Amino acid sequence: MDGAGPTVESVLSDIFGFDGFRPMQADIVDAVVRGDDVLAILPTGGGKSLCYQLPALVRPGLTIVISPLIALMRDQVRALRENGVAAAAMTSANTEEENDAIFDALAEGRLKLLYMAPERLAAGGTERMIARAGVGLLAVDEAHCVSQWGHDFRPDYLRIGALRRALDAPLAAFTATADAETRAEIIERLFGSAGPTEFLGGFDRPNIHLAFAPKSGPRQQILRFAAARQGQSGIVYCGTRAKTETLAKALNDDGRRALAYHGGMEAGARREVERRFQADDGLIVVATVAFGMGIDKPDIRWVAHADLPKSIEAYYQEIGRAGRDGAPAETLTLYGADDIRFRRMQIDEGLAPPERRTADHGRLNALLGLAEAQVCRRQRLLAYFGEAREPCSHCDLCQNPPELFDGTEAVMKALSAVARTGEYFGAGHLTDILVGTATEKVAARGHDRLPTFGVGQDIDRRQWAAIFRQMMGADLVRPDPERHGALRMTESARPLLRGEASITLRKDTMERAARRPAAKALVSDEDAPLLSALKGRRRALAEAARVPAYVIFTDRTLIEMAETRPGTLDEIAGITGVGAKKLERYGATFLEVINGEIAAPVHPARRKLAGRESGALYDRLLAVQAELSRGEEGTDKLMSCSASLLARLASMARAERSDVDRLLGERLSERFGEAFTRILSEG
Ligand code: ADP
Ligand code: ZN
Repeated sequence: MDGAGPTVESVLSDIFGFDGFRPMQADIVDAVVRGDDVLAILPTGGGKSLCYQLPALVRPGLTIVISPLIALMRDQVRALRENGVAAAAMTSANTEEENDAIFDALAEGRLKLLYMAPERLAAGGTERMIARAGVGLLAVDEAHCVSQWGHDFRPDYLRIGALRRALDAPLAAFTATADAETRAEIIERLFGSAGPTEFLGGFDRPNIHLAFAPKSGPRQQILRFAAARQGQSGIVYCGTRAKTETLAKALNDDGRRALAYHGGMEAGARREVERRFQADDGLIVVATVAFGMGIDKPDIRWVAHADLPKSIEAYYQEIGRAGRDGAPAETLTLYGADDIRFRRMQIDEGLAPPERRTADHGRLNALLGLAEAQVCRRQRLLAYFGEAREPCSHCDLCQNPPELFDGTEAVMKALSAVARTGEYFGAGHLTDILVGTATEKVAARGHDRLPTFGVGQDIDRRQWAAIFRQMMGADLVRPDPERHGALRMTESARPLLRGEASITLRKDTMERAARRPAAKALVSDEDAPLLSALKGRRRALAEAARVPAYVIFTDRTLIEMAETRPGTLDEIAGITGVGAKKLERYGATFLEVINGEIAAPVHPARRKLAGRESGALYDRLLAVQAELSRGEEGTDKLMSCSASLLARLASMARAERSDVDRLLGERLSERFGEAFTRILSEG
């Protein structure tokens, strides 16, 4: 390396193994490398770590990283070391020897990144120690922890400002929390009067699929969702502690591996669940919202809400834990009238001052609006955060546009039932009146003599329940805790009641039988066996090295391997996430998995063809493939097709060369295309 040091591009591809930047990363990295003070707000999974890790390797001197969570720091350090970067973490969990090793490395100028827990800043001598080490950059992760009004306030973060002045090094601060107040507070406390260069990333998480469903046999809905994603890490959020336990049990009974997690558990037991979830790659955690902040697992493939979250912000944060590695991730949020009642009561009965309660109702309304949305959910979610955009084609509503109907008449009937009974009753009793069921309670109150009695007979009870739920969702009526949850009209109901407004409702969510969610695979059938073989190898390596699986390679890297099937070390080097160090360490072993995946004669794909003409074709293809597996001369690299690929070929009797090539892809068709076409044209 010459005096100029490594370039941004070379570090990105050689050390991190990435072939490009995510949105905003390039500009942020440039500014940090330049030595600007920087405040960057990027959504979870936006790739904040790279924005200081990369400059740390390009800039001279040591980079200090302040980060609030010990477990996360240790993972980051392990991941960096896997990439061949000299990094260490100084936390209260360190042993004496670990600290001594760090001091030695610092004295010899060998470290590029030193992670520090904020409480270390309070320890005597720390400032002097790091000042002597020649700090070139100070990076602050989770910078919102400096905000006294936020939920994660860390008093020790307040020392960072003084540290920055003492070191006279540029400061780069990162957070995913973006509201203007917090931002202003971060700037004031960390940067002082000069102010940083600010980067405000978008809120979209394009790889996360969004879906909601009204509750209809909610336990089964969750079990089905999890079953369709077997072997993938996921989180199920529940409203109560008790439910985390029962649902975890139901999932285990159904053949999944699931653990419960809630704030009532002992700290040690909670830590153990976090550790297992972090290290494992197919575990489900059923949790209350207590499970979150400490989780920094990039390969969480799905998040389900068994109960409605408390606000749109909470929803965004919770689903945001999925898919941080950028690979596809899925979400499902269940909601029902009970959830709406529960959340309203929680707000009304809480201790917050009245103006805060109004705001909380507003945040819940925003979420309900999202739940009952009629067009693109992502558009609606991002609009809440002030971002305009086109429909996404990657949410349930874009993919299955809902059936709508003019609900004005039904809603007017329901509202008049509410009004004529003095706003003293809940949806059940109101429905009795609307459909004309003279229960004892109805008769006793004389409600069977109301003009509204029986006017809603054309709609069945279940549908009325869905209409009331949508009315609550639209905030036309609210349960009143002082009247045991009786529905009262809000101001927005008046124009409808007066006949001055109309309302469109969703019809699909009024029917039962929510469509069975289709099993969603990360890769095509053809690549699935290889992906699971790659995951198996990864698990073995991770266990041997005692690190989380993703520290070896992320899902995204394995998916790319399964899809592109690199045949040489050079080709493996071109895969996202494979830097020079990992290539050296793991390239050969993963290559072996990819090239060793030879179709077995009794593969299930073959079994399906048993007794058919295509079965015989399959066998001939398999035989020829075996002959050619090392090329014409028997000296080439080992190559083979998956069983399901052979099965697909076998069902294409009399195919042309071009069809065969299309199925095989370039690499395989070079070896097998001609021979296969000959067999198929005879078949
Ligand atoms: P954040 O802290 O913003 O939530 P991370 O820094 O943990 O996000 O990054 C999330 C994931 O994305 C990590 O697995 C990381 O390796 C990966 N990643 C970051 N930048 C890139 C990039 N430019 N190309 C590919 N993967 C990236
Ligand atoms: Zn959409």
